[in-house]
Amino acid sequence: ARCSIVALDKTGTLTHGNFRVAAVHPEGMTDGALLGLAAHAESYSNHPIAQSILAAYEGDLDKSRLGEVSERAGLGVSAMLDGRPVHVGNGALMQEAGADWHDCQSTEGTVVHVSSGSGYAGHIVIADEVKPGAKAAMAELKALGVKRTVMLTGDIARVGQAVGQALGLDEVHTGLLPDQKLSIVEELLPQKPAGTTLVFVGDGVNDAPVLSRADVGIAMGALGSDAAIEAADVVLMDDNPLKIP
Ligand code: ADP
Ligand code: MG
Repeated sequence: ARCSIVALDKTGTLTHGNFRVAAVHPEGMTDGALLGLAAHAESYSNHPIAQSILAAYEGDLDKSRLGEVSERAGLGVSAMLDGRPVHVGNGALMQEAGADWHDCQSTEGTVVHVSSGSGYAGHIVIADEVKPGAKAAMAELKALGVKRTVMLTGDIARVGQAVGQALGLDEVHTGLLPDQKLSIVEELLPQKPAGTTLVFVGDGVNDAPVLSRADVGIAMGALGSDAAIEAADVVLMDDNPLKIP
């Protein structure tokens, strides 16, 4: 009740679990082949992006083709597929993989890049929608006396800024890795007026450290990762942002 700053994650928290593949832009292969690479690499992930790619892939999923798989919070997924490294994620992950990638100007949503071996395989555009009630929830928080609403997202600036503007958030921080989300919360904590608290709302593995550090951590219970739910003080069972105010 004494909250003055509400910081929120974007993907899965303010935007819907209603992800769908909006466009497939392969380079040097078919749509199906690109989706197949991504779907195999993502087959153990419960990230909303992974779920949408798996839903869009119509071919066979043969997990015996996979070797080691690792999910990289805030970056994507890296896997060995047929003995070759496959990376599925954002530009930072492509950079790390050394793939000759390029951005996509689609404004429809989050762009997921894919590399295979040392080459760039193309990208998949995942349309994301703001949750109904998210805008009203942000306005209601302000009406209740919250001074600042702040978005902390791992997504790129173009997407993060568009969502922040649509929802009327005071501040938007984009392109953040889990430890960078934590640093921003560490900066925000001393800025709150005396006797008030900072609330953080999130859903992902990457949000768990911040959920623990905030005065009050709120996790999305339905879409949320186990780590986020475990680290939170409050769990919203129906993921409805209107429950925050
Ligand atoms: P947010 O902080 O907005 O909830 P995340 O930190 O979960 O977003 O993800 C940040 C970015 O990292 C995504 O926009 C995406 O580019 C990439 N990413 C994270 N996990 C995955 C995944 N499983 N597959 C592909 N990309 C991913
Ligand atoms: Mg999230």
